[in-house]
Amino acid sequence: MLSFEQALEKLLAAAQPVEEIRSLPITAAAGRILAVSQQSTVAVPPLDNSAMDGYAVRVADITAAGVCLPVSQRIPAGTVGTTLQPGTAARIFTGAPVPAGADAVIMQECCEHGEVGNTSGVVINHVPHDGENIRRAGEDISVGAEILKAGVKLRPQEIALAASAGLPELPVYRRVRVGVFFTGDELVQPGEPLPPGAIYNSNRYALRALLEGMGCEVRDLGAVADTLEATRDALRRAAADNDLVLTSGGVSVGEEDHVKPAVEAEGQLDMWKIAIKPGKPLAFGEIRKADGKAWFLGLPGNPVAAFVTFLTMVRPFILRLQGAASVSPRVLNLPCASVWGRADGARLEFLRGWLNDDGAVELYKNQGSAVVTSLCWSDGLVLNPPGNTIAVGDTVRFVSFAELLS
Ligand code: AMP
Ligand code: MG
Repeated sequence: MLSFEQALEKLLAAAQPVEEIRSLPITAAAGRILAVSQQSTVAVPPLDNSAMDGYAVRVADITAAGVCLPVSQRIPAGTVGTTLQPGTAARIFTGAPVPAGADAVIMQECCEHGEVGNTSGVVINHVPHDGENIRRAGEDISVGAEILKAGVKLRPQEIALAASAGLPELPVYRRVRVGVFFTGDELVQPGEPLPPGAIYNSNRYALRALLEGMGCEVRDLGAVADTLEATRDALRRAAADNDLVLTSGGVSVGEEDHVKPAVEAEGQLDMWKIAIKPGKPLAFGEIRKADGKAWFLGLPGNPVAAFVTFLTMVRPFILRLQGAASVSPRVLNLPCASVWGRADGARLEFLRGWLNDDGAVELYKNQGSAVVTSLCWSDGLVLNPPGNTIAVGDTVRFVSFAELLS
């Protein structure tokens, strides 16, 4: 058996980012992986500007609270004032450039109109420090700074950063194309009647949603009969035009499991027994096609096993094909609020757990590899090392679905 880490390392060593890169308008680039690092040609903000509605002043003029200064100019956002003359104040609004000579902005709540002696203007009831309420040019982004690194996933915040640096388009990798099909003569589709001996095909819908959630283009061939010929034919069709063929079921070594011989006939296959639970069998290989090859990944049929092996093994593989720089989720060390006494002696277990309000992980009561309710109840997976039993209060390693499904 391979350890989880060994299997993942072999998978990732094989995967290369897709070659095609295209430039997308930033309105269409969210969720994609950036292909080329980006530098800013501008400073953000471009000029020193006011963080408040108020009055721009020279600090040296405000020797004490109660000083009155004539208001020499008005600077709304989008306009540039003139040099602030000593002994005067400028009315200024949030985002407006601070005039040359001014070195602080007094928020308007600390000012009032009035007269002191024979000066009428604004009375300043606050002694500012140098730079008060001034946002400095370039404090967010300096000219020439690398703002986005190749391989980053473009979340809304990265789109905002690109826009604030004035970039209208970004180069991204093309979407990864995945052909999927499902083996098992017992499977019927939701919406159809359920004859004796049949079950509904849940993996089809789980895997489609997972793939689409990752931004893949999915070509779904549906359920395929449990025969060698049908499986070979489906492999050829799923490989054409796609980067990856993903299946569920039929990867054990029973007589009804045709995926292994079919992949061997259409390409090549490594059958892996991985020391993980759920999800021991994982098939990895390639399918020959006219213009090269498509990767092949065969997941186990049990729904939780298929889901968990997708998140822990297929997801990093696809991220690598997508060009993502980071493929490993963050693992948190958290206290466990449940007991786990049935540790598997040889395999890393992915236990379904829920994060309670105290920040501790509670384990779902039924950890069976076909119990889909465990996935819905949970917030993530506890990575439990081989042979490890868990007592209340023990620290466990936890990966959240929020991260694995983002
Ligand atoms: P297999 O890997 O084909 O031996 O299937 C293992 C178990 O998973 C069996 O109980 C199957 O009925 C079940 N199974 C296989 N494919 C699916 C599917 N697409 N949806 C739900 N359960 C499945
Ligand atoms: Mg089967």
